[in-house]
Amino acid sequence: MQQQRDVVIGLEVHVQLTSLKTKLFCSCPSDYRGKPPNTYTCPVCLGLPGSLPVVNKKAIEFAVMAALALNCQVSERAVFFRKNYFYVDMSKNFQISMYDRAGGTPIGRGGYVDIDVDGTRKRVRISRIQLEEDPARLVHLGPIEFSPYTLVDYNRAGIALLEIVTEPDLSSPKEARIFLQKLRSILEHCGIFDGSLEGSMRCDANISLAGGARVEIKNITSFKEVERALSFEIARQRELLKRGQQVRRETRHWDEDRRMTFTLRVKEEEHDYRYFPEPDLVPIVITEGFIERVRSMMPELPDHRAERFMREYGLPEYDARVLTSEKALADFFEACVKLYPNPKKVSNWLMTDTMRVLNEYNLDWSSIKMKPEHLAELLKLMDDGVISIKIAKLLIFDVVLRGIPPSKLVEEKGMKRIVDVNYLSQLVEKVFQEFPK
Ligand code: ZN
Ligand code: MN
Repeated sequence: MQQQRDVVIGLEVHVQLTSLKTKLFCSCPSDYRGKPPNTYTCPVCLGLPGSLPVVNKKAIEFAVMAALALNCQVSERAVFFRKNYFYVDMSKNFQISMYDRAGGTPIGRGGYVDIDVDGTRKRVRISRIQLEEDPARLVHLGPIEFSPYTLVDYNRAGIALLEIVTEPDLSSPKEARIFLQKLRSILEHCGIFDGSLEGSMRCDANISLAGGARVEIKNITSFKEVERALSFEIARQRELLKRGQQVRRETRHWDEDRRMTFTLRVKEEEHDYRYFPEPDLVPIVITEGFIERVRSMMPELPDHRAERFMREYGLPEYDARVLTSEKALADFFEACVKLYPNPKKVSNWLMTDTMRVLNEYNLDWSSIKMKPEHLAELLKLMDDGVISIKIAKLLIFDVVLRGIPPSKLVEEKGMKRIVDVNYLSQLVEKVFQEFPK
């Protein structure tokens, strides 16, 4: 029986398969970021009449791997559908996507992700995971509703996307953020996704409060934004309900810069996308052998890695979970422990001191300049008595933010610890003489 919850949240996440070299249905390169607009295109991803799509086999492999990693049941057959709509971001006026009705099956169904919220495990069910093509990127001048024009960049059109839909199992903005973080870590461990790339993970959220209708929030561009967007929406809906007003069923747009949501469209009924099977693509048969082959290639996933960190390095569960919450962080930890075999100390310096620097400058792990050998060197300098812990906590700012080796910083800044007692007593004498009071 479903317990009555005050806040009910479900997510629909779009994740680019950034490790693919080419797009989903053509051989255009997929590293479109930073390239001149509309240069990574061909007749297929421009949707020109007569062009024919061919499925990227590697994309199917990656999607099956993601489905397995999210504990889903993998379908035996994947059929692409046309999702028809008229909008400039899809020049052929339909998106090739999988569909879970009318004989269609998504690539995976009925999975789950376990997340840790304040020390408690919680299971978030995944209703489905499917493969589809990314639409073009739209560029506006200022906020979308005031922009005098829309620019379209088809470089992104046709990039392979995974659509991952959760059941409405989340109960707070914080849980939503933790879920997306975990999802990112899982997909990064699979080696199919790099979450540090701008716009590689986007999310729509459904949220309802007891007594109000369900509101959909579109255009949340990162897992950090999701917490903000949902918090704003909860406050807005609570205020309406408190004043006895209605929360209408609608779709709202999250404006990252102004940090607010506003009405995009009021939903009278479901969109009619007139889905039908894509006649230019044959159904894809996913054999048991194919699934087993993908399963055998599966790398270690975050939950297993955390367990290994506890076993192999004797870390407390909390440390193990935090360190594996991001693949790059877990990789850093292991590389550093190889050079400085004191796991708990390395963990402490990563989780407290390094994180403090990043938080202070509002940076995430991907922008860190520190190398594992730098942290190992810093810890050794302390062990050897060359620097004190106080100095180390000062130096780590320059190491993290600028990637300067600690030994060089000590040399440059003359921050060596003074161990000569005679010299120190002379200094003390001198200070007392100059400032007798
Ligand atoms: Zn193309
Ligand atoms: Mn979609």
